[in-house]
Amino acid sequence: MNHFHYVKDELYAEDVPVLKIAQEVNTPVYVYSHATLTRHVIAYQDAFKDIPHIICYALKANSNGAIINLFSKMGCGADIVSGGELFRAIKWGIKPKNIVYAGVGKTPEEIEYALKKNILMFNVESPEELIQIDEIAGKMGKTAPVALRINPDIDPQTHPYISTGLKKHKFGIAIEDGIKYYRMARDLRHVRIVGVHKHIGSQLTKVEPFVDALKRILLLVDDLHKEGIHIRFIDIGGGVGITYNDEEPPHPKDLAKRVIPLLKDRNITLILEPGRSIVGNAGILITKVLYLKKGVDKQFVIVDAGMNDLIRPSIYGAYHKIQPVIKKDGSHKIVADIVGPICESGDFFAKDREIQGVKSGDYIAIMSAGAYGFSMSSNYNSRPRPAEVMVKGNEYAIIRKREGLKDLIRGEMIPKFL
Ligand SMILES: *Cc1c(COP(=O)(O)O)cnc(C)c1O
Repeated sequence: MNHFHYVKDELYAEDVPVLKIAQEVNTPVYVYSHATLTRHVIAYQDAFKDIPHIICYALKANSNGAIINLFSKMGCGADIVSGGELFRAIKWGIKPKNIVYAGVGKTPEEIEYALKKNILMFNVESPEELIQIDEIAGKMGKTAPVALRINPDIDPQTHPYISTGLKKHKFGIAIEDGIKYYRMARDLRHVRIVGVHKHIGSQLTKVEPFVDALKRILLLVDDLHKEGIHIRFIDIGGGVGITYNDEEPPHPKDLAKRVIPLLKDRNITLILEPGRSIVGNAGILITKVLYLKKGVDKQFVIVDAGMNDLIRPSIYGAYHKIQPVIKKDGSHKIVADIVGPICESGDFFAKDREIQGVKSGDYIAIMSAGAYGFSMSSNYNSRPRPAEVMVKGNEYAIIRKREGLKDLIRGEMIPKFL
């Protein structure tokens, strides 16, 4: 459910015509709906209201300050994977006591920074990292709250690049080693065991992998309990999918229905780390058609957005719906590749896609672009990154300025020896 819809033949974001934004802010531009963002957070809060829980929004899905700020005002915490994300989370209002920190390669500087800020817990991904955290905490005269990220060896049945919970993946600690490393953690002087963490992948469209993984984790929690190691936080990660095309992912309620009974009589706080399912369908990318080009056996629609702005189709072969900003009555359909200006054959948004016939100057919307869109953008081909806009009701505001040419060379220096 989102708030991008047609009024007569014109695409609106809530009560604002998308054409107006495209003309006033220029293209390419990301447009986010406040009502959709809010609705998705509330869906999680409502679904899990019967048990103690914290919604730790996964910042990497979309780390725009206005979006983080909105979620912090709604009481969300954050799931972070770097010192940069910690900086952003705190800067835009997330309370450190609601921040959990995952990632296989936390640097000593990042660990120190997170300890200084007193985050809720480190989701530790290896024994060496555990020792590192213990040492740094010791030097600082602190005790680090930790959970071990457990790899439950469950196939999430999603794209291999966004699957993380199998033995062959670099993430977490194998479940059969769980006890061993929890014992190790217990014996370290400057860490305090507070939780257990898992995150098995992204864009999951079934509940079963979540439930199966959680059941495995709970067996571990029971074993730990027998050893006197008590778990306060069970962090089940993120990964709920969204509808890009015709997927039917679970609603947070479907997840809650299966998860809550497993946790009800346990004295724990549940942590969830949704990213995509909150922001994915709350954002679209608006781009302008530059040229039509007939190849030998293909037609190309060349637009002013590129893979540097939205890389998902290029790296995951991801499907995004393409919709016209203005529908034309009875206009002919074409089958075309929708491509960007970048000098790479991988620079495309859709292949052999049937769309409404377009001409130079028309605007099109690339749907479901709110997650892993701007946050994965780059300046490749020296393209300034697009503007981001938030719509609320009949108002809109720029929440990130379009980059200019000067932004491209910020920080570059010519050495004296040249
Ligand atoms: C990426 C990530 C998430 C969010 O995943 P979504 O599929 O966007 O919900 C949550 N937790 C961790 C540890 C992650 O790496």
